[in-house]
Amino acid sequence: MTKIIKVLKGTKDILPQEAGQWQKLEQNALEIFTKYGYREIRTPILEATELFARGVGDTTDIVNKEMYTFEKSDRSITLRPENTAGVVRSFIENGMARLSAPVKLWYKGPMFRYERPQAGRQRQFHQVGVEMFGIKEPTADAEVILLAVDYLKSLGLNNLEVEINSLGCPKCREEYKKRIKEVLKPEFDNLCEDCRNRYEKNPLRLLDCKVDSCKEIFAKPEIQKVIQSDFICEECATHYSDLKSYLDRLNVPYVENKLLVRGLDYYNRTVFEIKSNNLGSQNAVCGGGRYDSLVKNLGGEDTPAVGWAMGMERLNSLLPDVEPEKLDAYIVCNSPSDAFEFAQELRKEGIKVEFDLANKKFTKQLEKASKVAKYALILGEDEIKSNKVSIKNLETSEQISVDRNDVVNNIG
Ligand code: ATP
Ligand code: MG
Repeated sequence: MTKIIKVLKGTKDILPQEAGQWQKLEQNALEIFTKYGYREIRTPILEATELFARGVGDTTDIVNKEMYTFEKSDRSITLRPENTAGVVRSFIENGMARLSAPVKLWYKGPMFRYERPQAGRQRQFHQVGVEMFGIKEPTADAEVILLAVDYLKSLGLNNLEVEINSLGCPKCREEYKKRIKEVLKPEFDNLCEDCRNRYEKNPLRLLDCKVDSCKEIFAKPEIQKVIQSDFICEECATHYSDLKSYLDRLNVPYVENKLLVRGLDYYNRTVFEIKSNNLGSQNAVCGGGRYDSLVKNLGGEDTPAVGWAMGMERLNSLLPDVEPEKLDAYIVCNSPSDAFEFAQELRKEGIKVEFDLANKKFTKQLEKASKVAKYALILGEDEIKSNKVSIKNLETSEQISVDRNDVVNNIG
């Protein structure tokens, strides 16, 4: 027997019966983001590997372990693992810094990370996200969080928890890093391998570790004392407290979580995640934050920025199934050319209609109609001659005869 080729591990087909949910995610995104002044940007899925090495950070899991990278004509190319770096590249390349601030962009599409596939974690997955450039004030942070919450509400997801934290700026964070390293030094040998590797390069990332034995270490009182201390400078503290007061005023509930540092290297000041209790261990649907240094690091003008990304598969698993919609009508007719012509007339009027392309027996066609459509439009020889159509309501079995021109008005 010929071997059947299967979908790659960690990737999935999105089948027609699931498409309704995906379309809802995409339609609501367009609608809500447009209300806030965002415009869609579509960047390539392939980018130069260097973009992610510099733009996501070479101490991250994404860059170290998870990228799909290959060589083509002596260039190292990577399938995008996330889209902030690509959007920033495009922002710089297309001179968007010259546009009047803020520049508000949104995107949707597939991302690729070589991770261990499990519930809520795939190797090809989809994100929808926003990026706002040019505003350093905390109003921007508040607006992107509000936008995320509004989008989730539009999907009927009201019970998600917003977690926020401030990572301070590179200056005030330096001192904090030192203190974290100091207090963790006696525990170094007890940390997991990832944490030991990150200890020198990116000590804050340790706090985000999901390994139980590390979590236990971070829960120790002397370590908690450092974690919970207010290390951020006055300016960063004002930015953070202003953000919180906007969220309070706008009735966006949030929880402060000092352990929230996020996986990417580029964040400063505000970071946030939105979590669901109905998702098991991969419970974050949204992650984001402020990244004021990224545009400059990638060669652009110094431009503050803030944004987030949501995992669409995880959003999907929180949505109720969308019932596939029935056709408005199914034409029952034994003359294919008449059926064709009639179907085209109706489609022009916006009616969803099909007929039997195989021209099976009348009774078979009626059976099919009752499965797939709301109305059967019967076009027998008599009807064709008299320019009439018999309309059968397939729910009530009621049947009426109307002029062909009147069909549309009778199947609303
Ligand atoms: P996680 O902690 O769940 O790995 P992350 O910090 O790596 O998330 P981000 O890079 O911030 O995630 O991406 C934002 C969102 O994209 C996540 O909150 C999640 O919903 C989704 N996401 C990330 N990686 C995957 C994946 N491999 N499969 C499915 N969804 C994912
Ligand atoms: Mg991850």
